[in-house]
Amino acid sequence: MTAKEHHEEIRSAVRDLCSRYPDAYWRRIDEANGYPEEFVKALTDAGWLAALIPDAYGGSGLGITEASVILEEVNRSGGNSGACHAQMYIMGTLLRHGSEEQKKTYLPKIASGELRLQSFGVTEPNTGTDTTRLRTTAVRKGDRYVVNGQKVFISRVQHSDLMTLLVRTTPLDQVKKKSEGMSVLLVDLREAIGRGITVRPIRTMMNHETNELFIDDLEVPAENLIGEEGKGFRYILDGMNAERILIAAECIGDGYWFVDRAAAYAKERVVFGRPIGQNQGVQFPIARVYVNIEAANLMRFRAAEKFDHGKPCGAEANMAKLLAADASWEAGNVAIQTHGGFGFAAEYDIERKFRETRLYQVAPISTNLILSYVAEHVLGLPRSY
Ligand SMILES: Cc1cc2nc3c(=O)[nH]c(=O)nc-3n(C[C@H](O)[C@H](O)[C@H](O)COP(=O)(O)OP(=O)(O)OC[C@H]3O[C@@H](n4cnc5c(N)ncnc54)[C@H](O)[C@@H]3O)c2cc1C
Repeated sequence: MTAKEHHEEIRSAVRDLCSRYPDAYWRRIDEANGYPEEFVKALTDAGWLAALIPDAYGGSGLGITEASVILEEVNRSGGNSGACHAQMYIMGTLLRHGSEEQKKTYLPKIASGELRLQSFGVTEPNTGTDTTRLRTTAVRKGDRYVVNGQKVFISRVQHSDLMTLLVRTTPLDQVKKKSEGMSVLLVDLREAIGRGITVRPIRTMMNHETNELFIDDLEVPAENLIGEEGKGFRYILDGMNAERILIAAECIGDGYWFVDRAAAYAKERVVFGRPIGQNQGVQFPIARVYVNIEAANLMRFRAAEKFDHGKPCGAEANMAKLLAADASWEAGNVAIQTHGGFGFAAEYDIERKFRETRLYQVAPISTNLILSYVAEHVLGLPRSY
């Protein structure tokens, strides 16, 4: 079977699963600000969220290319991968840097869905994108770490059993480089919530479970340190390319969905005695966003190919994320415009997807920071911050 045929097989199976969760399902969940439990369970039971876990640990050992096809199809079907995409990639920190014992303990259960590892705590209210200044500290006391601090916008905490947490283990003024002295801890949320972690949900413009975390004397067993103490920032950076490629694919799925909806509506809606899509003022914006989505898609596959071949892909992963997030946002805007007043009506789902795809201009990395990366690391311009 060629790679393309394999991708088609994945697409068709995921599409089939998603067809059981139509627009009305997502609309109902959105209106209730709920969590798509049934959908996530179906996706987990079918093994799709274990795509990146090697066979030896109970996953399907697929590459990032295939994983990205899975999430693209979810968003292309009108769904929202943001509810569960992190179950696919957060385990990468454990896989790449965890001990054999940790991997044997956790990965098979993550693959089966028995354990949900879909929360990662990096962002803090006072330091934002300037991650190396984070203030959450972990102090080693015998066989435990005692953690204190605060995190913000930490997603899916209420639908996770485990969370990876980035903390400072050596104070900033005692390290040579500011990227040193941070560590990743695996926190068992089932024990920690109410015993060291207080969760305050944050209501956002789209339906996305995200939270503020207050951490007071949280005790984490020292054996839950992932990799070496002090190297956590590098471990987190390692996972970012995978995350960017996957989110680019989700945006591309959103983009194609918006274009399909806009084109279909433009063909059937008749005003002034002709389909609105006959007007160049209506068809050109749809054609233009389609062009942009196709271009972003090429960059996404280029980034994914390099990633799967173990080649450096920071530039491509960042560019794919930026192009795809821009294209999907623009496509959402065009879809609203094409639908006129109906673009604002919840029953058409355009406004819901528009709210959902807007996030990717800011998270997990904002557009400006991607441009800074390209300016500095690709073009050799002076670092601006
Ligand atoms: C719904 C949602 C879910 C999230 N989920 C998670 C999660 O699960 N885990 C997690 O750790 N984080 C999560 N985040 C946090 C997200 O990664 C951050 O919001 C994002 O990285 C931006 O950080 P900030 O909000 O602190 O913005 P800031 O760092 O305060 O930046 C604000 C604005 O200023 C711009 N800016 C800042 N510095 C510069 C500069 N030097 N040059 C140019 N522009 C600059 C930024 O681009 C941005 O537009 C989530 C956020 C949201 C909204």
